[in-house]
Amino acid sequence: MTGRPEPLFPLFAGLETLPGVGPKTAKLLANLAVATPKDLIFTLPTSGVDRTPVASVRDAVLPGVVTVPVTVGHHIAPSARGRPYRIEVEDAKTTFQVVYFRGSADLHARSLPTGQRRIISGKVELYDGVAQMPHPDYVLSENETLPAFEPIYPLTAGLAAKLMRRAVDAALLRVPEMPEWVDSQVVAEKSWPGFADALRQAHHPEDARDLSPGTVARQRLAYDELFAHQVTLALARSTERRRKGVVTEGDGRLRRKVLAALPYKPTVAQQRCVQEIADDMAAPRRMNRLLQGDVGSGKTLVALMSLLTAVEAGGQGVLMAPTEILARQHAEGLRPLADAAGVVLELLTGRDKGKERQAKLDALARGDIQILVGTHAVFQRDVAFDDLRLAVIDEQHRFGVRQRMLLGEKAATTDVLVMTATPIPRSLALTQYGDMDLSVLDEKPPGRTPIQTATVPVSRMDDVVAKLRAAVTEGRQAYWVCPLVEESEVVDTTSAEERFRSLRAALGEGVVGMVHGQMPPAEKDAAMADFIAGRTSVLVATTVIEVGVNVPNASIMVIERAETFGLAQLHQLRGRVGRGAAASTCLLMYKAPLGETAEARLRILRESGDGFRISEEDLALRGAGDVIGTAQSGLPRFRVADLERHAALMELASRDARALLSRDPALETDRGRAARMLLWLTEQDRALRLLSVG
Ligand code: ADP
Ligand code: MG
Repeated sequence: MTGRPEPLFPLFAGLETLPGVGPKTAKLLANLAVATPKDLIFTLPTSGVDRTPVASVRDAVLPGVVTVPVTVGHHIAPSARGRPYRIEVEDAKTTFQVVYFRGSADLHARSLPTGQRRIISGKVELYDGVAQMPHPDYVLSENETLPAFEPIYPLTAGLAAKLMRRAVDAALLRVPEMPEWVDSQVVAEKSWPGFADALRQAHHPEDARDLSPGTVARQRLAYDELFAHQVTLALARSTERRRKGVVTEGDGRLRRKVLAALPYKPTVAQQRCVQEIADDMAAPRRMNRLLQGDVGSGKTLVALMSLLTAVEAGGQGVLMAPTEILARQHAEGLRPLADAAGVVLELLTGRDKGKERQAKLDALARGDIQILVGTHAVFQRDVAFDDLRLAVIDEQHRFGVRQRMLLGEKAATTDVLVMTATPIPRSLALTQYGDMDLSVLDEKPPGRTPIQTATVPVSRMDDVVAKLRAAVTEGRQAYWVCPLVEESEVVDTTSAEERFRSLRAALGEGVVGMVHGQMPPAEKDAAMADFIAGRTSVLVATTVIEVGVNVPNASIMVIERAETFGLAQLHQLRGRVGRGAAASTCLLMYKAPLGETAEARLRILRESGDGFRISEEDLALRGAGDVIGTAQSGLPRFRVADLERHAALMELASRDARALLSRDPALETDRGRAARMLLWLTEQDRALRLLSVG
C-alpha cells in the first residue's frame, strides 16, 4: 500500500511530541489504548464539570464545585503537625477558607498572596458550618478564564484533567483541513459539521447535553468510524464478488420432486430465500451469503433446495453442521427427501474410520456422492470432491472465522451459504457480516402454537417434577437442560448425571435418557435415537442440544439455573420445543434472589418469542461484544460509535459505503480519495491493502 498521506503525519507522531506529555503521561495514556495524537482526538470526554463563575459560595449548592473570584486574606499556618494550612478568602458576600494538606508555605504564599485578587475553582464543602475549598483545582489571575464547562476525559489514575485537556487541544491543532468523505446529501440532511469542526465541538462541550451521543458532532464522528468500517467491509465484499465463481444453474427437476414429497408447503420467506440463493449461484461470481432465520424458521429446507440446485447443475454440495448430533440429524432428516429425488446423500463425521471412510472418500471424489452432510470432518485435507459447487455451513456462530477461511482454501470458487439462527440485531449483523450478502427468513411455518414461558425458583423443584410426571403420563416429551455451572464440561457433566439419577428415581427407570458431551459417541446416538423414537420421555442434557436438534413431539423444556445462561442461548434452547402442533411449555428455573439484570433478561424471554426482538433487548442490556460472545466475535472496537445507540447510523453507513464503492470501486474520485483519507485516519489496514492490490 502506498504510504500514509503527509497531512496526517503529525497525528501519527509520538505522544511525547505534544506539549506537556512526557514518558510518564504517555504510559498512562497507553492504558487508554492511546498511542498517538490521532487516538487522543478520538477519545471524547465522558463527563464535565460546570465552572461557570459565581459571585459567592453562598450562591452555590454545597458540597459542589464552585468557581469564584476572591480577595486573598491572611494565611494561617498549621497549629500542630498534621493540621492543614489555611488561607482566608473573601468573595462578594462572605469569607471562607482554602485548605491545603500538602505543599510548602512558600508555595501557597506565591499562588495566593494576601491582598491580591484571584479566581479559584474547586470543590467547596461545609466543615463545622464553615465553607472550605480543600486543594483548589485552579487558581487563576483575574484576567485568565476557564472553560465554563470543563470536559472530563476517561482517566487512568494519575493523569490530571488539566494535562489531558492540554494534550487534546494540542492534538486538535494538528488536524488538517480534511476533504469531506461523507455523502453530501447525508451531511446536509443531518446538519452535520465537517470532521474537524465536529472534533472541536465534541472536545469543547458547553454543557452536559453536549456530551450526549445524540449531538450532531458525536453523531458525525460515530458515523465516520462506522463508515470507515463499512467501506472496509464493502471493499472486502466487492473484492469477493469480483472473484470468479462458477455459474450454477439448476433446471428445477430435483427440487420439484422434493417439493412433491414434502408434507407441507414452503413459506413465502423460504421461497424468496431459495430464489435469492439460486440467483446468486447462477451468477458467474462466488456467492458469499448469510441466511439468517430464527429457530424453527425452516432453514434446513432452504439449504436442501440450494444443495439440489448444485446437483441439478451436475455438481455436488456439502452441508456442514457444528456437532455430531446435528450432522446426524440433518442426514437422517434429509435422506428420505434426497431419496425421493434420486440423489445420493452421505454422512461423514469424525467417527468414520478406516476402510469405510476411504470408500466414502472415493465415492465423493468420483462424484458418486452428490450431497455430503457432516461435521468439520468434511473439510479435512484428504476429503476431495469431484465438483463442489455449494458449501452450506449451518449454525455459523458455533464455528470460528477460521473455519470459514479453511473452507475458502478448499474451494476457491465454491459458492458459500452460511446459516445462522442466532438472531443478531441488524447493526451487529452489518458489523460482523457486512462483507456478505444477506437473506432473511422472517416468517415461521404456520400452525405453531406459541411457547408458554414461565419462571420458577429452584426451591419449587418438587412441584416441577410432579408436573413433569403428569405430563409424561399424557405422552408428552421433555428436555431437561442442566446448569452451566462453570465453563467446565466436567462440572456440567456431574450436574447432568445427578439430575439424571434423581429424575429416574422420580419418574421411573426407562423413562429418562441423557446426553452430554463426555459420553462415548455411540451412547449419545443411542440416547438421541431413544428420545426421537419416543422410547424415552425425558432427555436430560447439557447444552449439546442447544443448536438445531429437532424432535417435534417434545413440548416441554426445563432449563435449570436459567439465570446463568445467555439470552440468545436460552432462546435457542427454548427453540427446541414448539416444533409440533401441541402447545409447548418452557420452564426457566432460577436460584433466588435474582439480580436486576438477570430478572430483566428472564422477563424478556417470558414476554417475547421473537428472536430478533430478544437480541435487540439483549444488546441494550449488555455490550455488543457479549451478544455474540466476546472472544471470537471479531467485532471492531469503536472509540466514538456505540453499536446500540448508533444502530441506525450503521445501516446508513453500510448503504453509503456500498453505494460509494459501486460508483467508484477503486476510490479514485474526489470523494473516493477523501474516503481513503478516512481509511488512513482510522487505520483500516485491511481496506488499504485491498485497495493497493485491487
Ligand atoms: P431451523 O431454521 O431452526 O433450522 P428447521 O429447518 O429445523 O428450522 O425446521 C423446523 C421444523 O419446521 C422442522 O420440523 C421442519 O420440517 C419444519 N418446517 C420447515 N419448513 C416448513 C414449512 N414451510 N411448513 C411447515 N413446517 C416446516
Ligand atoms: Mg437448523
